[in-house]
Amino acid sequence: MNEHYDPTGYAPVSPVEDPPNGYAQPETRVAALRQALAGVPLGRYDLRIVHWLAGWDDSTARTVVSLLHRARQAGRGEWTLTAAQAETARQAIADACQWRDPAGGLGCGDCLELSVQHDEPRMCDDHQADHDAVLSYRQLDAVLDARQVKLW
Ligand SMILES: [Zn+2]
Repeated sequence: MNEHYDPTGYAPVSPVEDPPNGYAQPETRVAALRQALAGVPLGRYDLRIVHWLAGWDDSTARTVVSLLHRARQAGRGEWTLTAAQAETARQAIADACQWRDPAGGLGCGDCLELSVQHDEPRMCDDHQADHDAVLSYRQLDAVLDARQVKLW
């Protein structure tokens, strides 16, 4: 399947400069429109409009399918969290950090033994895993903090 077309192969997913060519049966147009709307809850009237759109000429239907796919792609690069949701996510990250590393990196008896043995700070496998997890949680928290959350 050409990556420049929607998954059904019906419509281009790059900017449309000229009317897309080709003829497809209305059922194919409906299938492409439904695929472009995958995961979107649809009401009865939405479905009526999807069928109405499929009755338009093929170039128009292909362009609508293309627009829907491109809108989905653009949306993937945007935050869709509200400020309250982002705050909840950041609190969850803080809780996870506290849970994974309640002693703030002090470790356990095994950590201490390894540190004495190697004459430098060391961590046991469990605490190293906790430490690594906390680092990745904090990186995610920094991303949430740095990116402006879109309010809608
Ligand atoms: Zn340990």
